[in-house]
Amino acid sequence: MPDTINNTTPPAFLPGLENLQRTLPSWAVWLLHIALIAAAYWISGKLGLLLAIPPGYATAVWPPSGIALAGLLFFGYRAWPGVWLGSFLVNVGISFDANTTETILKSLSIASCIGVGATLQAAAGVWLIRRYVGFPNALDQERDIIRFLFLGGPLSCFVNATIGVGTLWAHGIIPTPALAFSWWTWWTGDALGILTLTPLILIFFATPRAVWQQRRYTVAVPLVAIFALAVLVFVLVSGNEQRRIESIFEQRTQALTRALDESLGNYVQILQSIESFYASSSKVERHQFHTYVQRMFDKYPGIQALSWNPRVPTAERAAYEAAARRDGHASFQFTERDAGGRLVRAAPRAEYVPVYFSEPYVGNEVALGFDLASNAVRLAALSRARDTGQPTATAGVRLVQKTGQQTGILICLPLYAQNLTADTVTARRHSLRGYAIGAFHMATMVDAVLKNQDQSDWVLRIEDTAATADGAHLYGPPLEAGAGTSARVVRTTLDIAGRQWALSFTPTPDYLAAQRSWAPWLVLAAGLLFNALLGTFLLVLTGRTSRIEQLVKTRTAELARSNAELEQFAYVASHDLKEPLRMVGSFTELLARRYQGKLDKDADEYIGFMLDGVRRMQQLINDLLAYSRITRGGQALTLTAADAALAAALANLKQAIGESAATVSADPLPPVYANASQLMQLFQNLIGNAIKFRAEAAPVVHISAQRRSEQWLFSVQDNGIGIEPQYRERIFAIFQRLHTREAYPGTGIGLALCKRIVEQHGGKIWLESEPGRGSTFFFNLPVKPKENL
Ligand code: ADP
Repeated sequence: MPDTINNTTPPAFLPGLENLQRTLPSWAVWLLHIALIAAAYWISGKLGLLLAIPPGYATAVWPPSGIALAGLLFFGYRAWPGVWLGSFLVNVGISFDANTTETILKSLSIASCIGVGATLQAAAGVWLIRRYVGFPNALDQERDIIRFLFLGGPLSCFVNATIGVGTLWAHGIIPTPALAFSWWTWWTGDALGILTLTPLILIFFATPRAVWQQRRYTVAVPLVAIFALAVLVFVLVSGNEQRRIESIFEQRTQALTRALDESLGNYVQILQSIESFYASSSKVERHQFHTYVQRMFDKYPGIQALSWNPRVPTAERAAYEAAARRDGHASFQFTERDAGGRLVRAAPRAEYVPVYFSEPYVGNEVALGFDLASNAVRLAALSRARDTGQPTATAGVRLVQKTGQQTGILICLPLYAQNLTADTVTARRHSLRGYAIGAFHMATMVDAVLKNQDQSDWVLRIEDTAATADGAHLYGPPLEAGAGTSARVVRTTLDIAGRQWALSFTPTPDYLAAQRSWAPWLVLAAGLLFNALLGTFLLVLTGRTSRIEQLVKTRTAELARSNAELEQFAYVASHDLKEPLRMVGSFTELLARRYQGKLDKDADEYIGFMLDGVRRMQQLINDLLAYSRITRGGQALTLTAADAALAAALANLKQAIGESAATVSADPLPPVYANASQLMQLFQNLIGNAIKFRAEAAPVVHISAQRRSEQWLFSVQDNGIGIEPQYRERIFAIFQRLHTREAYPGTGIGLALCKRIVEQHGGKIWLESEPGRGSTFFFNLPVKPKENL
């Protein structure tokens, strides 16, 4: 796909990267982009796998899909190898099987194909977004946000859900019946990954930064918080599920362990019953032994052979052999195995423990006559049994009777001379007659116990803990390399006839798959879906807000401009009006001077009206000019003596004060940061009003100032007519008067001017008043100069 580095938008990326991109040659930038995407993909993939539900890799969210999309959006299509490499590495990590060349090739092939799927998916998402939404994009329009998330997320995720699951199916990893479900979980994971992660990446890196940056707190924080919460709940729920599954499994294995223990106990009891049989008769004949043990075989299928092994001192060997031949075993002799494993006549030794009676005969022919004392493993068990008086098992042995891997154990029960309390080792050694010995076939014995259980759920292994490597394995498939380390294996021990067996139950993958609960997956998927919806909603909201803010900014700017223009106009107009007005004024005065009394009475009156009108208009224009001048200048405020400003104002009011016989007093006033002439105007207007709006009595006016933390609070108090409460806001607006011109002259600009002056200085103006008794106007000025005035 043709693409150049220039039409991509990496500028707002990490500041360091930005510099690098400027200084590096373009091929190096390209490699850098690839490496960045691959690394981010790999890391987020590893993190994503932590949220998978074992067994298998059904993840409810696959964040790398969001990385891939954002990566190609920022760096352009040509950075695609980064996506492929990231995906390849993650998937090789999941399924690498180094057993054979074939399995290696298979792992590599799976990882490559999924990588291709991931790459195509991201490219499709970028193409759709560029084509139908446009990128870079502020995403501040509902339509854009929804299109962006839908095209980049759910829609483009069809690609790898199909390619990825198809790959696993083609390689025989996913069986056909599981296709639909696997597709669905794959698709959900990818889509949620994009919906969750892409907005976050955009917030931190996309342009225009002004819009995206604002979303850090309004969108990113809630999204990350909800995401963390969803993951936390998932971890808790899935931990609970794991424990539940494990505890169910453990309970089952406990039941099995008890059944095994009981069954093996029964096998030991067989030997004890033989012991009782011997104890009750002085001499047991071969045919009696045969009859007695027959009933055992049906009940206990694990019995390979039950035998009577007398203790034969070397002197009695010939007699025993002769007696057995008389019983019908023509070739009977004591035997042992030679170094090559062949049965040969037993070499002379002090004492023999031959298999003398053995049932059933068929299948055990070769064992008859075999001297157990000739074999170290067996002899060890025999000696221990003899010394302890207890049934004693051997480690695992290859049974003599069978060929091939027939693991069995022998359990030996010693029999002592009658009527003898054999309670010391010496006494036992002395009075030993022989042993009742059972040869038990492990597989048949254990299988008989397990036969009612569903054995496809677990694999049982039994090992003898104290035995050497040879005799350790008693039951179950041999341990595979690396297996058995899983935490799910339940281990217990059983004490069997003086030996300790280690039992390990490993649940099969099928069992775990059947037990797998989708509750945690659902919790996470629902949480993330909510998160995605919330993200969309927040993007829409912030998009709208930023659009409105933009609008407000433009409008305010327009408003400020038109305000300034208006002021300019008022200033110019008033200024230019003064000249013709002065002309009208002077000619009217001329007219009055020359023709007063020479025209008729009406003409004199009209001239009087004209003069009055001209004077009022001049006053109005002067006031308006003063008002519109307040914003002009903008020079820095300097420390000004309020006393001096007050004195200047009083000088201007000298005539009014004299005419009204007003008393004006003032406290000492502080220096303030103010424009001196404006401060003077302020005093002049307030004191002028205080005198103008007088009551019957002569006006008394008092001016004072007090420090209130960072402000100076000034007050101008009078004893005039006062102001009704409902007018206390209104009178500060321009042209607002409460009286006719006939009652009190004025233009209604004075207080508006005062308010403007005070506000220009960063202060406020207000009043308190009691109608009929007087008013006090307050205004405050800051103690320190305000910036930007
Ligand atoms: P003007 O003095 O030209 O009427 P101002 O803006 O100065 O206009 O005042 C607005 C109105 O506020 C006045 O018309 C008057 O009704 C009222 N006012 C102002 N100062 C006082 C005062 N000290 N006592 C009573 N009323 C006042």
